[in-house]
Amino acid sequence: MKRYAFSCCLLLASLFLALPCAAARDGVTVAVQGGYQCEYGVDIPFTRSARTSDYTFAIYAGNTPEVQANVTVTTDSPVVVHLPLRYDPAGPSTHTLQVTAHVAAGRQGLDREAALSRTFTTAPTCGCPAGTAGAFYVGDGSEGAPFLVASTDQLQHIGSTAHLQKKSSFLQTGHLDFEGQTVESIGSLNSHFLGHYNGNGYTVSNLNLQNADANGLFGYLQEATIENLGVVGATVPSGGAGGPIAGVAENSTIRRCWTKGCTVSQTTFGGHAGGLVGLLYSSSVVQDCYVQNITATADTDAAGLLGMTGEVGAAVSASNCYVDGMTLSGMSCGATIGCWFAPSGSYPTLYCLDSVSYPLYGRNNQTSGVTGTKVPALTPSYLSGFDFTGVWEMKDGLPRLQVEQPLS
Ligand SMILES: [Zn+2]
Repeated sequence: MKRYAFSCCLLLASLFLALPCAAARDGVTVAVQGGYQCEYGVDIPFTRSARTSDYTFAIYAGNTPEVQANVTVTTDSPVVVHLPLRYDPAGPSTHTLQVTAHVAAGRQGLDREAALSRTFTTAPTCGCPAGTAGAFYVGDGSEGAPFLVASTDQLQHIGSTAHLQKKSSFLQTGHLDFEGQTVESIGSLNSHFLGHYNGNGYTVSNLNLQNADANGLFGYLQEATIENLGVVGATVPSGGAGGPIAGVAENSTIRRCWTKGCTVSQTTFGGHAGGLVGLLYSSSVVQDCYVQNITATADTDAAGLLGMTGEVGAAVSASNCYVDGMTLSGMSCGATIGCWFAPSGSYPTLYCLDSVSYPLYGRNNQTSGVTGTKVPALTPSYLSGFDFTGVWEMKDGLPRLQVEQPLS
């Protein structure tokens, strides 16, 4: 965000822009009025007048102040005044900052109150130039300050070379709808996504993905984490390995994710299609996810949850998931796993209904273990392992994740 420094004197009031300077928050007390809160805001470099410590900072988006704070500065050195401000995380926005200097005790009659204001426009915080489509305006990509993803352009911006492999963290702020757009998977066979994406309980709907070598909202994950995310109504085209959440997951974690009404078609030679992930391998973890109404078609392996598991590297972990409603087509079709090709591993807490006609797995190289359990009903009494206290809840007769945000 663009930073401004103001110097304020009394009587001969002057308030002017200066370049960002090295400044500290020591010696500054900020008391925000009216209980206004926001997890992000603006940092304002400021140098006080030698004749007073007391100021009021106000930021206007229109005629009424969005936020006001009583600010006390007890040092003559440059400081940073941080104000919470709910500015638009999706693009630039312009505001007016007004700083009012109050007369210090003992100087009544010598000085008078003075106020000056300046306008400022928010700028990208991700290092990309202003005007970059999908640039991030809040956060620095750290775990403590993830980039906020508030638009479809910003979701796609994660896949740009500027961010794809920076191991950054991202936090979605609302439902995103790609209706009418054709979009690219984030990450590919030769350029993996390495970061942490938190959907925050929101959905990504109507994805119409371009054909690539690994197909999903995320094409190829490596040492990545995807959590708290729903993908609804996605069309995942042919390309080798595909799933609405991810085409391929290597050494990655997918938890508390769900898909509804998605179509995955991986009809090129050797293709794997899954309701969550196309190919899951090398110590990856899938936990607390569900799939509803998946149509999966593959040249080789088609499955309600995972197209293929564990072809390379250590066994994967998959637990506490269910699939409800599936139409599968391929050489080997499995309600939970298409090809169970793991060095070891057993997945008893992957569930579907007794009435499902497909076997739990399509093909395997295993000699022991299971790839799931068929149950009479998808209810707590049958879903052994599910945490119905902290993770799941029953809603409209089916288990849902507590993190899910309502659609309207
Ligand atoms: Zn950027």
